[in-house]
Amino acid sequence: MKLETIAVHAGRTVDPATGAITPPLHLSTTFERDADTSYPRGFVYTRSGNPNRKMLEECLAALEGGAAAAAFASGSAACAAVFQALRPGDHVLAHDDLYHGVARLLREVLQPWGLQVDRVDMGDPAKVQAALRPNTRLLWLETPSNPMLKIVDIERVAQIAHAAGALCAVDGTWATPALQHPLQAGADLVVHSTTKYLSGHSDVLGGAVVARAADGIFERIRALQEIAGAVPAPFDCWLVLRGIATLPLRVQAQSASALRIAEFLADHTGVDSVHYPGLADHPGHAVAARQMQAFGGMLSVQVQGGRAAAIRVAARVRLFTRATSLGSVESLIEHRASIEGAHSTTPDNLLRVSIGLEHTDDLIADLAQALAP
Ligand code: PLP
Repeated sequence: MKLETIAVHAGRTVDPATGAITPPLHLSTTFERDADTSYPRGFVYTRSGNPNRKMLEECLAALEGGAAAAAFASGSAACAAVFQALRPGDHVLAHDDLYHGVARLLREVLQPWGLQVDRVDMGDPAKVQAALRPNTRLLWLETPSNPMLKIVDIERVAQIAHAAGALCAVDGTWATPALQHPLQAGADLVVHSTTKYLSGHSDVLGGAVVARAADGIFERIRALQEIAGAVPAPFDCWLVLRGIATLPLRVQAQSASALRIAEFLADHTGVDSVHYPGLADHPGHAVAARQMQAFGGMLSVQVQGGRAAAIRVAARVRLFTRATSLGSVESLIEHRASIEGAHSTTPDNLLRVSIGLEHTDDLIADLAQALAP
């Protein structure tokens, strides 16, 4: 089945009790037992399982071609569950360009807990190979990465991981299953902040881990979901599932628009550089062209004139909204270094841009007036 069809149908059925074609919302926190103490309908207590969460997890597994999925209360909680499924003393090799919140999670929570962590440019297989240790258990990457849009060859990194007896996990939040299938490329786990493109409307926080195999590390992730309890509320699952129905069409339109906008920015005299894998001169263009169906709706731009000039551009936009986050119907722009804080390595003149579903001509006109001298 094609992705557009999976996005509309996976996890959903017409409600047998009422005939409702949109999923009913199951707010009950607890579920009835039979007289013989069994739970014949499969649900016990909503932290362990909920019908709305089950629908969402089935849909996510189908979208990624995975064996199973676990939904979480945020993308950060999903990432944390993967790392906590390891053991203190294990070594994690993570990409050098990462969502700053995941870098912080590793630095402030998981390293003190006992994980050993190194960061390396995952785009360079020789460096990845050299950074492996005997206790390396997990290679963690984002592609495209946040915020520099670096592209990593997933197949290559998964091969290196497996040869070393480690797992490969891909944070696929930026590409989404509409554009990239890490499990088919050999990764063991895919993580999403469903807050972004999957829900798609800036109105719900969520996360998910999708696994190639339902055993092994996924059993620990599933156990952590239940035991630690960072589960999404039923309505949050409902909203993400609803958003997913339009995911492929939204991301196709956003990718087409982002490519035109990246080309416009690349030609602009007020711009130092544009980071967008759809541009032929992007260092990851060839890998992205092979690995992704399109190049996505995210781009970063380095403005000529440094930090003050970049902040001035963000201050002058009228259609874009100055806000963090990404992947929604409305276009967002953000001076990234100032939100990432003291540990940020992001260039001071960089604006991160999430392209929404407004007309491309209007977005280009807005950027043109904001960049005008
Ligand atoms: N991973 C990536 C690539 C992200 O961009 C984000 C958030 O921006 C997260 C994970 C964390 O997701 P959440 O904000 O849902 O916790």
